[in-house]
Amino acid sequence: MGPGPSDVPERVLQAMARPTIGHLDPDFIRLMDEIKVLLRYAFRTTNPLAMPISGPGTAGMESCIVNLVEPGDKVIVCQNGVFGGRAKEMVRRCGGEVVAVDDPWGRAIDPEKLRSAVRDHPDARIVFFVHAETSTGALSDAAVLAGIARDAGMLSLVDAVTSLGGTQVEVDEWGLDAVYSGTQKCLSCAPGLGPITLGERAVEKVKGRSAPVQSWFMDLSLVLGYWTEGANRSYHHTAPVNALYGLHEALLMLHEEGVESAWERHRRNHLALRRGLESLGLTIAVPEAERIPQLNAVTIPEGVDDARVRGRLLHEYDLEIGAGLGTLAGKVWRIGLMGHSSRPENIELCVGALADVLASEGRSTDRETALEAVNRAVATGVGV
Ligand SMILES: *Cc1c(COP(=O)(O)O)cnc(C)c1O
Repeated sequence: MGPGPSDVPERVLQAMARPTIGHLDPDFIRLMDEIKVLLRYAFRTTNPLAMPISGPGTAGMESCIVNLVEPGDKVIVCQNGVFGGRAKEMVRRCGGEVVAVDDPWGRAIDPEKLRSAVRDHPDARIVFFVHAETSTGALSDAAVLAGIARDAGMLSLVDAVTSLGGTQVEVDEWGLDAVYSGTQKCLSCAPGLGPITLGERAVEKVKGRSAPVQSWFMDLSLVLGYWTEGANRSYHHTAPVNALYGLHEALLMLHEEGVESAWERHRRNHLALRRGLESLGLTIAVPEAERIPQLNAVTIPEGVDDARVRGRLLHEYDLEIGAGLGTLAGKVWRIGLMGHSSRPENIELCVGALADVLASEGRSTDRETALEAVNRAVATGVGV
């Protein structure tokens, strides 16, 4: 129950254990084509370009940035946590000029600040933002932010690593131009793949580059020679065949559950966890309207030893929760309810374990009442 990787279901692990076949085997090509269809379903898009990059979420991020950002391009980067900072660094390494829009860690990105940055820098080409900041647990309004970019003639480049499969992501309806994600958060697949999708406007910018992408491996014009349907597929790199079996299975499971039902499950389980935590006197650090259901940043009470509590949860309860990062280090715990990990039995385990461990840290906790609050919320589904 940390900030990823989430639990991988047995079915996905079994799929990954199937015999390795050739990366140009017709059966494997069929599986690749199905992955693309299923990714479009998850991303809610009809973009022809939807595919997994061979590499973790960060590789999906780097792929979008190195392909879209040319030397001299001005890029407005919104930062309200760790991952916006990483984007700034990648943009600079591509020779791009960063215009920083900074918001407090633990809060959503303020659309007003983006509006004024767009007014001050009408020559910017791209607006980057993180939809769900896993480092802090804050969710930003992707539809509004992308709309501001579009109205100014700029492309939106969106991090949906933690949001995809866990909270509503609408690539087409919200007009997101380039989006990347990861397999190890709410898709509940093993770490190591970075699904991306690019719309027509983003593809045009990549095609219109005056110089080739400096990374040969990431250059989409080459990668697509392997991933495009109907094309005379050619070797680019040896695809991570077994990892892709896993992604195929994980996406099938998302399709079977229904992506909207998955969002609803994440929302309900978040509310149930919250009831249990509140019953233990714990509070969520992010304002209610800005919370990500799949990543709960919990304020560490005064006088409680952060590392000791996490260590005891891990060693005595076999339960991992995450530490705070950056300005939130030592101030919050990050409790993930991502993908297959987002289940009532995990919430009970976590709330029960925290009740025990916090009691031995000198806090007064009532395990039974807290578990009753969880169970009531799970049963009613509304978290009250
Ligand atoms: C996890 C995460 C990433 C990076 O994904 P990796 O698989 O660790 O490379 C990027 N952005 C966000 C918001 C994330 O949560």
